[in-house]
Amino acid sequence: MKVYFIGAGPGDVELMTIKGNRRLRACSYVMHAGSLINPEILAPLPESTRIYDTSKLNLEEQIVIYNEAKGVDQDVARLQSGDLSIYGAIAEQMRALDELGIQYEVIPGVSSVAASAAALKSELTLPEISQTVIFSRISGRTEVPPDEDLEKLASHKCTICLFLSITKIKDVVEKLSVHYPIETPVVVVYKASWKDEKIVRGNLKTIADKVKSEGIRLTALILVGAVFNTKDFQDSRLYSKEYSHLFRKKNVDTK
Ligand code: SAH
Repeated sequence: MKVYFIGAGPGDVELMTIKGNRRLRACSYVMHAGSLINPEILAPLPESTRIYDTSKLNLEEQIVIYNEAKGVDQDVARLQSGDLSIYGAIAEQMRALDELGIQYEVIPGVSSVAASAAALKSELTLPEISQTVIFSRISGRTEVPPDEDLEKLASHKCTICLFLSITKIKDVVEKLSVHYPIETPVVVVYKASWKDEKIVRGNLKTIADKVKSEGIRLTALILVGAVFNTKDFQDSRLYSKEYSHLFRKKNVDTK
């Protein structure tokens, strides 16, 4: 018996990996993260599959299910939104599984951050504009360590992607405005890759009102930085003529 932690992707069923899907279909127990998982992913599962919505269960209740599956020697698929490495809350589960002597494996997924960048047709990094991306969140029920307070992170003025923060967009703007120029682009992507995806573009001055008037309160990423508005950047050296003389001809890996 094994538990498979599977990244379900951002929403669009076609953005779940083939490997994740194959594993999911082979498991008799499925635990999924509620509204962030597209029901179309679960629809084709056989009727005999035992499906649990973990957003309604505490850790102890989830452990009861793991134990039950262990008792009957059946595999469990544990579906989480996007990729598991970002706010996946799987570390505590793995610790519990270690204590129960249950083996597990992690199958990655497409994060909502990749789906949002794709929806925007944007790169998060551009030469000489920003070569760094910060993934973070504003403090909420989960406190952010003081050294990672958004105002401190803002001092880098690089690209920032904020998860789990949309209800606090006003606080986000206030903290970012300490360091970023007020005209810095801010884009909110609601339900990236879902049929009702919405993109709201603005800047530090305008975005909070726009988000409010669109009524966005859930399932949205806030993306901030000069990469979202400029056509005024240097070409990447990857395809430059000079670079090809130096490296491409010599067949050096340029990635
Ligand atoms: N592991 C997930 C993130 C889980 S935290 C991932 O890799 O995407 C949940 C937060 O992710 C939400 O509050 C929201 O900020 C973001 N999110 C998840 N799915 C999203 C989507 N389809 N579009 C925009 N944001 C999304």
